[in-house]
Amino acid sequence: MTQTDLFETIRQHVCQCAYDLNLAPDVEAILKMPMREFHVSIPVRMDDGHIHTFQGFRVQYNDARGPTKGGIRYHPDETIDTIRGLAAIMTWKCALFGLPLGGAKGGVVCNPKEMSEGELERLSRAYIQAISRFIGPERDIPAPDVYTNPRIMAWMMDEYSKIAGQTTFGAITGKPLVVGGSEGRLDATARGGWYVIGEAAQDAGIDLKNATVAIQGFGNVGAHAARLGQYLAGARVVAVSDSRGGVMNRDGIEIHRLQEHKAETGSVAGFLGTEPISNEDLLELDVDILIPAALENVVNAANADRIRARIIAEFANGPVSNEADAMLKEKDVILIPDLLCNGGGVVVSYFEMVQNLNMDHWDAADVDSRLRKMMTMTYHTVHETAQKKGFSLRQAAYTIAVHNIVEAMQARGWV
Ligand code: GLU
Repeated sequence: MTQTDLFETIRQHVCQCAYDLNLAPDVEAILKMPMREFHVSIPVRMDDGHIHTFQGFRVQYNDARGPTKGGIRYHPDETIDTIRGLAAIMTWKCALFGLPLGGAKGGVVCNPKEMSEGELERLSRAYIQAISRFIGPERDIPAPDVYTNPRIMAWMMDEYSKIAGQTTFGAITGKPLVVGGSEGRLDATARGGWYVIGEAAQDAGIDLKNATVAIQGFGNVGAHAARLGQYLAGARVVAVSDSRGGVMNRDGIEIHRLQEHKAETGSVAGFLGTEPISNEDLLELDVDILIPAALENVVNAANADRIRARIIAEFANGPVSNEADAMLKEKDVILIPDLLCNGGGVVVSYFEMVQNLNMDHWDAADVDSRLRKMMTMTYHTVHETAQKKGFSLRQAAYTIAVHNIVEAMQARGWV
């Protein structure tokens, strides 16, 4: 699979949706293209004195429902096509959860693992300088994503605020608590995902206690998914991997200790009391729940027939290709789609914006109960639509989301 395929995958979902919802071709055409996109060159002085020019993107896909919202990824293989696809997913995700937001995504081609803290800060500030005129609390609100974190969000918020001439917490979400961050944002994606898995498992008669779990990715989403799988759901995490390798123990992995090991060594690989496992083999393990929590297209036509999990929970965006999706349908796997499964991140980002705009601070229990309610309600709406129409969960989630966007486009007089 090439990177280009993610956007094509999304366009195919829109075609299906247009058919399911009987959309006019001109409405379908709007949904198939990003509203606007920015390509920026970002010169940054590196520690050795030379200037490196990075490439950056920001795609604002559709703002019919409100200002656009979505993360910023730092990745060496970033492409505009991937960012377009991810911006589209953000648009459906916000609409599915009924948030008053459209969708966007940003990316910078860089390898943060090989950059110093100073280089990262200069790059983050320069990226915001390059797109500052096009973002803001009422335009487009960035957040963390692959290889970006609260610290980077704080620099970005600071840079935006300096340009605006006033502290503007609501311009960026996923910030540290001391500068307008929200309680519960850090693990919101993983927590929300587990709430959805809990409901889906119950509907399918699967007991989560001691259910076996394999997780690909041990970044912000994957590491919290592993911790919460163990402590919140009582499941047994038997395999975990990151970009440098994976580990497995059929009796369960002690996640707290694994986090310490990763903090010391930079990877989960080599953790005491585990066997090594490759990223590819992890996906094919005979487990109850498989959580791809890293990058897109990891379950594809080449490996889908070897997947043995009963539930696949898409904590990452776009981890299952369309061909794989079709192949998995034959196998009776419960596939919880990204826009539903990982929506907890943007839901708490929205809570963060609401708190920022009201100069308010909600306590952790408040954030958690609101998150849980949103995730459970949205899951049931999707599940009921799927049952009623004979759709997959993905097809149901897409039709609800796209219907909500089309209604907004109609109300605004676009179509
Ligand atoms: N990057 C996350 C996502 O893909 C969160 C986006 C946000 O909080 O705006 O859903």
